[in-house]
Amino acid sequence: QRSPLLEVKGNTELKRPRIKAPSRLPLSGSRLKRRPDQMEDGLEPEKKRTRGLGATTKITTSHPRVLSLTTVPQTQGQTTAQKVSKKTGPRCSTAIATGLKNQKPVPAVPVQKPGTSAVPPMAGGKKPSKRPAWDLKGQLCDLNAELKRCRERTQTLDQENQQLQDQLRDAQQQAKALGTERRTLEGHLAKVQAQAEQGQQELKNLRACVLELEERLSTQEGLVQELQKKQVELQEERRGLMSQLEEKERRLQTSEAALSSSRAEVASLWQETAAQAALLAEREERLHGLEMERRRLHNQLQELKGNIRVFCRVRPVLPGEPTPPPGLLLFPSGPGGPSDPPTRLSLSRSDERRATLSGAPAPPTRHDFSFDRVFPPGSGQDEVFEEIAMLVQSALDGYPVCIFAYGQTGSGKTFTMEGGPGGDPQLEGLIPRALRHLFSVAKELSGQGWTYSFVASYVEIYNETVRDLLATGTRKGQGGECEIRRAGPGSEELTVTNARYVPVSCEKEVEALLHLAHQNRAVARTAQNERSSRSHSVFQLQISGQHSSRGLQCGASLSLVDLAGSERLDPGLALGPGERERLRETQAINSSLSTLGLVIMALSNKESHVPYRNSKLTYLLQNSLGGSAKMLMFVNISPLEENVSESLNSLRFASKVNQCVIGTAQANRK
Ligand code: ADP
Ligand code: MG
Repeated sequence: QRSPLLEVKGNTELKRPRIKAPSRLPLSGSRLKRRPDQMEDGLEPEKKRTRGLGATTKITTSHPRVLSLTTVPQTQGQTTAQKVSKKTGPRCSTAIATGLKNQKPVPAVPVQKPGTSAVPPMAGGKKPSKRPAWDLKGQLCDLNAELKRCRERTQTLDQENQQLQDQLRDAQQQAKALGTERRTLEGHLAKVQAQAEQGQQELKNLRACVLELEERLSTQEGLVQELQKKQVELQEERRGLMSQLEEKERRLQTSEAALSSSRAEVASLWQETAAQAALLAEREERLHGLEMERRRLHNQLQELKGNIRVFCRVRPVLPGEPTPPPGLLLFPSGPGGPSDPPTRLSLSRSDERRATLSGAPAPPTRHDFSFDRVFPPGSGQDEVFEEIAMLVQSALDGYPVCIFAYGQTGSGKTFTMEGGPGGDPQLEGLIPRALRHLFSVAKELSGQGWTYSFVASYVEIYNETVRDLLATGTRKGQGGECEIRRAGPGSEELTVTNARYVPVSCEKEVEALLHLAHQNRAVARTAQNERSSRSHSVFQLQISGQHSSRGLQCGASLSLVDLAGSERLDPGLALGPGERERLRETQAINSSLSTLGLVIMALSNKESHVPYRNSKLTYLLQNSLGGSAKMLMFVNISPLEENVSESLNSLRFASKVNQCVIGTAQANRK
């Protein structure tokens, strides 16, 4: 397809013949005579003009050219062109133009031979023949015709010119309008450019923005990746948790099932419990009745055994001591044979003053004694305690209990009461064992509603002065003097002033107290030798129990007394200052021990006056001796031959005490 530019060019070329035609108007005669090949030069200025016009006529290319072609002289070439044009239409103008270009110019006026009439040049379709020079008329006729044609042609050209001017005006108007339009468009363009610049700026900004956003996007993408990773992890975790949850739910269901069955069980158990509580209350009632019955029977039993009992204990021969002669001390078995616990003891004593007539030594005199129980040298501490456990328990039932250890120095009184040396549990004496027993029985009775409390005191009576063995601090070892007083006006209860009364609830506390007493005695020993043997040690435990729900109360004291050595001073000894002091001590001891004997006898004989006041010891123990009190005396005996005399004295004293009591005690036989 041809470009619009080529088409315009073609159009311009098409107009040439139209422009050429008027150029022929000023044709001179000489010119007319020119040869056809020379005519081209003659047309040259016209051609140039036409070209100049051609430049302006470009605007009019849109006008139909056919119109102007009709005015072109009907030359043969033109006719052909017209014919072609008619056949092909205006669009074949290029071909027409080409045809015109290639056609050789034809002389405007054909030469006619003179004599020939003016023949219409185109008649018969043949070129008019050149008139001969003489045919001036014909030539004039031709020229007139030519002139006429030229005039017509001029007229046509004027019209055409007019038309072209109109067209020019139109074109100018159009150009003006186009100029205006152009300015408007330029304005628009400027605006658009400004907008474009603005747009560029915005674009730049947007690009920066985009960059920033891209950066943020990459950051966000990183974040997103991280979050996705986290999400995956969390999902994993969630799955784990879900499985755990499921497991827990399963367990919960199982537990709930178990719970509901347990609830049912609990309900039935509640019913059972209520029934059992009723039963328990009933049984408790019965138990209490039985407990009271037990106490009554226990007391009856103790009374049957005798309110005053005497046990004899013979200590073993210690390492380094001379072996006593065989038969010095014998332990005959009871009526039940060797399986019966021994109650009898025989002491054989050879009296040198009672020599036979023949001079041979008199046979030893045998002294038989019978007590509530006799413990031969091999008897252990536990065996001894077993015998007194029931008696000690009477203190919990509200009966005062008093246990004495009587005997000469070194016979085993302290060993029996406090225990052996070294803290060996096997050698523990009656005091720690009795307290442990009381604590455990009190604990058992707490199940029946009894609450017990225990308060301990430990004093010694030396030369009729009372001192606290539990003293601590500045009073420790000094043993500031104490007085025995009634707890209150009109009160039966006695207390020792300045002495410590220490609440105890366990063995450890009792151990600590015994240790303290031992220390206090040791300190005192440095001041006065062997004083512990010359004084009575009195451990007292105040027991008070109550049954709050039944409003019952019971109180009693347990007294454990390690008496001073009962040995007498040899009256034949010379009296130095030390001995004089010793004599005074001994007299005090003897006086208090005989007072004890007298008090027991007065109580036994139910005398109106009991001489408690005759000694500090009996005065302190008065509440534990009379009335419903139960008394037990250990008579401690040394196994040695050299102590036979003192042993006999002790056994005699014990027998007297034993005789005092109506009960199981038997008369001593000699
Ligand atoms: P007392 O207090 O009557 O003066 P002790 O209790 O101090 O006599 O005893 C004197 C010594 O005999 C002590 O060394 C003691 O350990 C020991 N003893 C006493 N009785 C026994 C016994 N049953 N078994 C073993 N040793 C004993
Ligand atoms: Mg002693």
